[in-house]
Order: sequence, then structure tokens, then C-alpha cells
Amino acid sequence: MTAKILDGKAIALELREKIAQKISDEVAKGKARPGLAVILVGADPASQVYVRNKKIACEKAGFNDVSLELPAETTQEELLAKIDELNAREDVHGIIVQLPVPKHINSEAIIERIDPKKDVDGFHPYNMGRLATRTLNLAPCTPHGVMTMLAKTGIQLRGLNAVVVGASNIVGVPMALELLNARATVTVCHSATQDLAQKVSEADLVVVGVGIPEMVKGAWIKPGAIVIDVGINRLDDGRLVGDVEYDIAKDKASWITPVPGGVGPMTIATLLENTVQAAYD
Ligand code: NDP
Repeated sequence: MTAKILDGKAIALELREKIAQKISDEVAKGKARPGLAVILVGADPASQVYVRNKKIACEKAGFNDVSLELPAETTQEELLAKIDELNAREDVHGIIVQLPVPKHINSEAIIERIDPKKDVDGFHPYNMGRLATRTLNLAPCTPHGVMTMLAKTGIQLRGLNAVVVGASNIVGVPMALELLNARATVTVCHSATQDLAQKVSEADLVVVGVGIPEMVKGAWIKPGAIVIDVGINRLDDGRLVGDVEYDIAKDKASWITPVPGGVGPMTIATLLENTVQAAYD
């Protein structure tokens, strides 16, 4: 079997076009454009690329970009004060702080200061709690983007055996909650999990987000499984690869996400989707 490709780039483009249309409809009714503030502290090169991509996506969709670039020496108090200002502004509907922040700043304190109604990354404990209690508000972008992709397969998730490899706050845990809410039977694996190969080999659906190139071997994949690879790793030779051994996995899976062009574009599109929700719902 050769897997069908879950084309994140195409699905994200479709979602972004829908978002742009929604904005132009709302603006025609006299509403303001959604305002998104992306805060970057310091000049981490990878973060600068992510922020630039988010800004381009925002502009294309017709957002009002109110992003801020702050020097690396910005203190925690100064950053908290900026967030307070943005929380109070009516023209700002979404606020995200690009992570990681410099070491002298406590990222939890920053995330918790963002008004949960403007927390379009979905990282605030309030929004995580809403996800955990099946009363979704603003969902963490990467896992929610994966759910949008999964819907495109037309496959019912209810009753599937799902294995999530990775248990971080931004990928694995909210991913497991999303799948649990869809009534899959979910196993969450992490660095202390024993016999990972066995667990993955029983999965009808496997979502991997660990940050280790090709750690999940193609041979582990159950024939016909859906494989979602969240990982993005740059190798020394410059290639980008995921956390799954793609070339072998694609011959066993029914559906698979490529890297790049899989989950990555969905994360940004879902951020825009969340900001539109924060602005108009
Ligand atoms: P973290 O480093 O925060 O978390 C990694 C997780 O993997 C942890 O839960 C860790 O376990 C687990 N892990 C580590 N080693 C193993 C192992 N040997 N076996 C099983 N589990 C293991 O990473 P993130 O969640 O932030 O990111 C994961 C990957 O996803 C990265 O490649 C990142 O670049 C990518 N990413 C992609 C996004 C996209 O838009 N496509 C968005 C966000 C991230 P433990 O909890 O026990 O430490």
C-alpha cells in the first residue's frame, strides 16, 4: 500500500481563503479587521523566521498587524506591562508571544498574563482547561490544525486506537485531549515509555511530536494506519525531516503527512482561524 498524502499546504490554503472571505464579509458589515499582536523578544533566528511567516499570512488574510519586536534585554515586568496594554486595546483581538523567550523571563507567567479571550495560541491554562473539559474555547493551534487535517480524510476517529508520541504542553497533551474528545482511545507516550515500537504498532492513528529526526521507524507502523508527523528537524546537510521514517512509513500507512508541507502550514492557518474567532464570535 502507498499512503495518500495529507497535503497540509493545500488544506491550509483552503482554510486561509475561507478566513480571508469571512474577514471581508465582516468588514463589509462594518466590523473591524481582526488585530493580531505577535510579540518577539530578542533576535533568535528561527523565531524571526516563524514571526515573519505569521506576519505574511496575516497580511494576506486581511488582518491588522500590530506586532512588536522587543530587545533581548526586555525585563519580565516590561513584557507583562506590554501585554497589559494589548489586553486593554479594543483593536487587538489576538496576542501571542513567540517562544522561546530569553532565559530571564518566565514563559508561564507571560502566557498566564494574556487575556484568555485573546490567547489565540491556546496555551493559557484556561484554554487548556476548556479543552480538557470538552468546552472548547481557543484550542492550541498545532493539535487543532491536525484535527482539521484528519477531518479531510473522511475517516471516523471514534473508536480508533490512537497513539500520541510526545507529551509537551503545546503538542502531545492537547493532541491527546483533542483525540479523546473525538472519542478515540488514546495512549500518550513520552521519554519514559517502555516498548514504544509495540505501542506504535498497535495504532490505527499515530501522531508524533518529539523533535528527534526519524525516531519512529517505518517498520513500526501498522498496515493501513494514519500517520501524522508534527516534527520538524533540520539535518546537518540542510534537509528538513520529520520524526517519522517517512520513506518506509509511506508504504505501510493509509494516509501520511509530509515534512515539510504537512502539519507546519496548518499551525499558522489555525492561528488565523483562532484570531478570527476571537474577533467575531
Ligand atoms: P518538546 O521538546 O517540548 O517535547 C518533546 C516530547 O517528546 C516530550 O514530551 C518528551 O517526553 C518526548 N520524547 C522525547 N524523547 C522521547 C523518546 N525517546 N520516546 C518518546 N517520547 C520522547 O517538543 P515540542 O512538543 O515543542 O515539539 C516536538 C516536535 O514538533 C519538534 O520537532 C518541533 O519542532 C515540532 N513542532 C512542530 C510544529 C508544527 O507546526 N509543525 C509546532 C510545534 C512543534 P518527556 O515529556 O518525557 O520529556
